[in-house]
Amino acid sequence: MENHTQIFIVNKLEKKLAIDVSIDKLVERKGKIDKERHMKKGVFVLGVDLDGVCSDFYGSMRKIAAEWFEKDIKELPVKVSYGLKEWGIENNYQYQSLHRFAVTQRNLFSSMNMISGARKYLRKLSDEGVRIRIITHRLYIHHFHATAVQQTIEWLDQHGIPYWDLCFMQEKGQVGANLYIEDNPSSVKKLRVSGHETICFANSTNIQITPPRVKSWAEAYKLIKTIIKTPNKR
Ligand SMILES: [Mg+2]
Repeated sequence: MENHTQIFIVNKLEKKLAIDVSIDKLVERKGKIDKERHMKKGVFVLGVDLDGVCSDFYGSMRKIAAEWFEKDIKELPVKVSYGLKEWGIENNYQYQSLHRFAVTQRNLFSSMNMISGARKYLRKLSDEGVRIRIITHRLYIHHFHATAVQQTIEWLDQHGIPYWDLCFMQEKGQVGANLYIEDNPSSVKKLRVSGHETICFANSTNIQITPPRVKSWAEAYKLIKTIIKTPNKR
């Protein structure tokens, strides 16, 4: 059975047109396009994580978690570790419940603030010939994939984030980027162990991760440019 969703296209008159789209057909078509692109030489592909790298995931989740737990937001520490135990999340089931509420009832993926510099520096990189490939693991909770995909596309457009490819997958190394930028500590480790050069976008969840680390998009841009220019790094 095919998955179907609706993608809203905003035209110049700000009118929204709802179009039924088969996700399976889009994925199939996209796979062919990606294959053709891989065959081209000399293209530097930057694999960019969304949550915690382009979007302020933890800032938005903190507000929603305060509502979820019916607590004053000041009671929830800003600095958290992966899994959010500092906010009272004790297991994966509780995390998934909060996450589901955040996405389906509070439109988390379309309402997050952008991390400062993401638009500016990704656009600079794109203008300079880097292929921006967004890679996100946002579909890891079942039963609201269409909502998650739709909110993601809306957010990317709304914030003017340039990208050639949008991949929803856990095994990020399989998309074949030349360089990755990622904040999830497990994903950074996994990518590096499998030989994929990965910049860690620093936040409180990944303090244990070794360099290369960046604290901002300005730092990320400089480092990415250095890596692109360095032989044997591609
Ligand atoms: Mg992330």
